[in-house]
Amino acid sequence: MQKLTSAFVLALFVAQQPAAPTRATVVRAGRLIDPATGTAAANQTIVVQNGRITAIGSGITTPAGAEVIDLSNLSVLPGLVDAHNHLALTYKTEPENNYYYLTYVMDSTALRAIQAVSNGMQMMSSGFTVVRDLGNAGNYADTALRVAIEQGWVPGPTIINSGIIIGGMGGQFTPTPEMAKDHNIVYPEYLDADTHDEIVKAVRQNILFGAKVIKVCVDCKPYPYTVDDLRTFVAEAANAGLKVAGHVQTKVGAMRAIEAGFWSLEHSGPMDDEVHKLMAQKGIWRVGTETPFTPYRGSQQAFDRTVAGMKNAYAAGVKMAFSTDADYFIPGMNRGEVVINFLLSWKASGIPAKDILKIMTINGYEVCDIASRRGPIKVGFPADMIAVGGNPLDDIDALRTVSFVMKDGMVFKKDGVVVPEKFLHAGPVNGWRIR
Ligand SMILES: [Zn+2]
Repeated sequence: MQKLTSAFVLALFVAQQPAAPTRATVVRAGRLIDPATGTAAANQTIVVQNGRITAIGSGITTPAGAEVIDLSNLSVLPGLVDAHNHLALTYKTEPENNYYYLTYVMDSTALRAIQAVSNGMQMMSSGFTVVRDLGNAGNYADTALRVAIEQGWVPGPTIINSGIIIGGMGGQFTPTPEMAKDHNIVYPEYLDADTHDEIVKAVRQNILFGAKVIKVCVDCKPYPYTVDDLRTFVAEAANAGLKVAGHVQTKVGAMRAIEAGFWSLEHSGPMDDEVHKLMAQKGIWRVGTETPFTPYRGSQQAFDRTVAGMKNAYAAGVKMAFSTDADYFIPGMNRGEVVINFLLSWKASGIPAKDILKIMTINGYEVCDIASRRGPIKVGFPADMIAVGGNPLDDIDALRTVSFVMKDGMVFKKDGVVVPEKFLHAGPVNGWRIR
């Protein structure tokens, strides 16, 4: 192979030319909601240029030649966050009997990456502009999704992805010796890490292949990680500026993850009053994945327990996130519709609408660790916003009908119809350096 000439190398690495300023967009909001304070301001104008918000207020003069989007009959608010999903996993009644071991045998990583793009668009249509995607994504389909969105090929939410879930041997699977040892069947759904050296290596592998958060199976096996093991995860992730999310299913696991200083605990099963009080004291996020009882999922008994746990956590002052773990196909519903129906759990918990809205927005940006650069409707921030009829500060069900979605200053949905053209490109228009 010919050696690369220095001119070619230079051309390859020369900085991208800044794009010429685009025409401004002006959004006229009948009501602009600030979920941080639980307040709303009437008749506000938001000016957007080059994908970012440049001005917000009343009585702003429309820049010459600006495109005006009239949302004067709607409430405008920042985008919603699902803090726990798996966009590259969709298990189904047919053919795999809702058994995700089989999904991974039957759906290739490439197919799952394409499913993830579709699921991401379905989430955006329901107003979710940020998704924390926590593993079970085959061989890094989650990174492919994030990079495709960020480089500018396809529309989709901002993705905070974990790469492969790291766990003690076997992860959440219970394979036969033949399947595990002869066919490496656990990988790529789980990355085995049983010693401190393996933990360091696994964390680094995920970061190399595009993870933005580290997901650990704390106690999926009868040999849970020790506090010392868990501290190794936290230290190695912190070395690269990443946070650690812990899947917990036992109280022992939850207590150890809290002691080790995990950023978030995923799933609410093992969380009792004692766990909640410790989490509140240490400021650890509760990503509870609270499944509602519906004709297609759950049971009354499980739901009662879930709701009691939410009430207890709220009363204890635990930092809570809206999260679903919705990674299954319900015929007749899209991924966004399945996710927004988790409002049933939040309403049943008795948490006031304005607090639920804060949990679904502000808390979401914080648990995703992006609050300083994306999320709130704020001058200088990327122009991500949605609009609904009614006022979600009073009636959270207003979020069920999202009629407008803007991401990075581009309209994704207008008058209730998805219009993705602005997001579709034949090349990495935001730069191939995004990995
Ligand atoms: Zn999950």
